[in-house]
Amino acid sequence: MTSKRFVPQSGKSTGYIAYPPHWFKHWGPLLLIGTLLLSACTARPETHRRTQLIMGTNVEITAVSRNAEMAEDAITAGFEEIRRLDRLLSTYKESSEISRINRSAGNKPVAVSPEVLNLIREAVKVADMTGGGFNIAIGPAIALWGVSENPRIPSGGELEAVRPLVDYRNIRVDDQSRTVYLPKAGMRIDLGGIGKGYAADRAEAVMRRHGVSNGIVAVAGDLKVFGKRADGQPFRIAIRHPRRDAAPLASLPLADEGVSTSGDYERYFVKDGVRYHHIIDPETLRPARRSQSVTVVSKEAVLTDALSTGIFVLGPEKGMALIERLPDTEGVIVDAEGRIMVSSGLKSRLELIP
Ligand code: AMP
Ligand code: MG
Repeated sequence: MTSKRFVPQSGKSTGYIAYPPHWFKHWGPLLLIGTLLLSACTARPETHRRTQLIMGTNVEITAVSRNAEMAEDAITAGFEEIRRLDRLLSTYKESSEISRINRSAGNKPVAVSPEVLNLIREAVKVADMTGGGFNIAIGPAIALWGVSENPRIPSGGELEAVRPLVDYRNIRVDDQSRTVYLPKAGMRIDLGGIGKGYAADRAEAVMRRHGVSNGIVAVAGDLKVFGKRADGQPFRIAIRHPRRDAAPLASLPLADEGVSTSGDYERYFVKDGVRYHHIIDPETLRPARRSQSVTVVSKEAVLTDALSTGIFVLGPEKGMALIERLPDTEGVIVDAEGRIMVSSGLKSRLELIP
């Protein structure tokens, strides 16, 4: 069984090499590197997935990679990036840049990071695109409805009193001094309709920097999908049915895209048979009534997030017209009666689930 060559010098014939033979000194390191390279190329990609509670919601990050350590590190870095953005953007954190802007409303401009300046600028662009349906100055109305803390129905008088405070065109963004100014006391920026999508985009960028090029970052209903599944097929996401709990309405294959769904089933309460939910129509200052759910697909999740919220307010006719007009943008709208509208570019991709 033991060849002469491999008999250790101690004389005991164990059949094992007790020390490296001299040829190993020259070829060993190369052999080792070769073996490692080969195993890296032949190892099958695997799916790594973790969930954490950030931004007051479930964040699920998926990474597909042959390198388990790299995948886990990328997921950790993705979560850390989303936590960083929460600290920067949250109105629930007093030290966030947005809270500082809000506290100085009617008083003075506030110097902010270039990142916050850009995000506010993007938000204003989508506000213009959606005719003000998407409106980050909606803060004072959100506060009256107590959307996340203690939901209540404000009186008409209370709502009309905040109307002068919710005009997003009053937000002053100054590139030169890198400041944001809310000129009226009581104005309040709320990035709840755009921040999660932005966070998904940023987390994806961080994961790519960590060497992972296939995965999904899902911040509640705002997702960024990149690359492919472990089996080489495109990732598929399910769009929730707005009226059937946890049942899917449709399934959709995605590659290198953002996708967001805004729905009236997300945060709501029912009083006297009326559903009161978290997306406020800036025109009525009451929960938007034209849609049950809106899904938007486009290149960046920051855009799909803001658009899905804005189009939810606009409703099916104006909303679908906007989706058709925008390049690289598709969508599904479930209107107030539960009718499903699918944009032209999505009809062949979307699989409706009966
Ligand atoms: P989303 O879940 O992305 O549709 O965003 C809903 C969140 O955006 C709400 O919880 C509010 O914080 C905020 N929001 C509500 N109404 C509007 C609106 N008309 N425009 C922009 N943000 C809004
Ligand atoms: Mg949104």
